[in-house]
Amino acid sequence: MEKPSNSEQVKVLVIGSGPAGLSAALYAARADLNPVVLAGMELGGQVSLTNTVENYPGFPEGVGGTQLVELFQKQAERFGARVEFDTATEVDLSQRPFRVQTYNGEYLADTLIISTGATPIHLDVPGESELTGRGVSYCATCDGWFFKDKDVVVVGGGDSALEEGIFLTRYAKSVTIIHRRDALRAGAILQKRAIEHPKIKFVWNSVVTEILGDEAVHAVRLKNVVTGETSDHATDGVFIFIGHHPNTQIFDGQLELDEHGYLVTDKLMHTKVPGVFAAGEAADPTFRQVITSAGMGAAAAMQAIHFLEEHAETPVESAISK
Ligand SMILES: Cc1cc2nc3c(=O)[nH]c(=O)nc-3n(C[C@H](O)[C@H](O)[C@H](O)COP(=O)(O)OP(=O)(O)OC[C@H]3O[C@@H](n4cnc5c(N)ncnc54)[C@H](O)[C@@H]3O)c2cc1C
Repeated sequence: MEKPSNSEQVKVLVIGSGPAGLSAALYAARADLNPVVLAGMELGGQVSLTNTVENYPGFPEGVGGTQLVELFQKQAERFGARVEFDTATEVDLSQRPFRVQTYNGEYLADTLIISTGATPIHLDVPGESELTGRGVSYCATCDGWFFKDKDVVVVGGGDSALEEGIFLTRYAKSVTIIHRRDALRAGAILQKRAIEHPKIKFVWNSVVTEILGDEAVHAVRLKNVVTGETSDHATDGVFIFIGHHPNTQIFDGQLELDEHGYLVTDKLMHTKVPGVFAAGEAADPTFRQVITSAGMGAAAAMQAIHFLEEHAETPVESAISK
């Protein structure tokens, strides 16, 4: 890695500004470590795309996703965290301080907390990339408004698919959920809400093999996985919610990844490299929630504080229970 002229040394560098990253920043900031958070392309992470979060404690009436992450950020900044609108492009974890190259420069970090989260998985069918932004979407909150009184399809059968499908009924005339199995994977309450919703229909045992359109989407080509039959289903929009993959490519070869690309940590959020911790969905294929990601972020920061106390020449004052 070439050393750029604008290089900054920090005690704690947090990569990612979702619930995990901002919670890590809060804890590190309260230990007077002045953490820097690299926000990446999505300030606030996935939850900022969500309309309402109803399962984060402390908000009995629910809270907007954007509002929640704004509060996370404000709280971390109050204690000295700094959020930078920059993205890590390359890391060198072979020695401390760790070197993290970004679009705008370079950081030398005594400890690193990786909270780069996950991004939606694409269908990888013809028409998908060509029509993205012209009817194909991965975010109902961002794009639902464009489908007022239109017919849309949602691809998937898990929590995200149903949550987003129900959200789309605010705008769309009809929402058809296309699922490759004959049963949903989503939680029971969500299933009930979706199945009973008058605007929502289901197409079972079917996969999308092509998205059809020119300037805009006009149909999806479906294949019934049981009968093999193909058919075209007219639609104005295609919302794809079939899972996520972890944003961990830049750590490949330097940190241990599992077979799906998730960072491997022990239960104290340690990676194999001392001083490098991972938190949230980048290291969590199981829970994938705001509260669990935030909890992992806090835990990673507490471990980073201990690490600095043990390794830095001048021990930092522990503020974990301040
Ligand atoms: C539509 C939807 C609805 C949801 N609803 C709920 C809900 O109601 N309740 C709930 O508990 N959970 C919900 N979730 C899940 C929740 O949003 C996630 O579990 C949580 O956001 C994960 O937090 P995270 O910090 O690990 O990662 P993410 O939120 O994925 O954030 C990752 C961060 O890393 C940054 N980043 C990535 N790569 C880089 C890089 N190279 N350099 C710098 N930064 C980088 C990104 O910009 C982003 O800021 C929902 C998710 C979705 C998609």
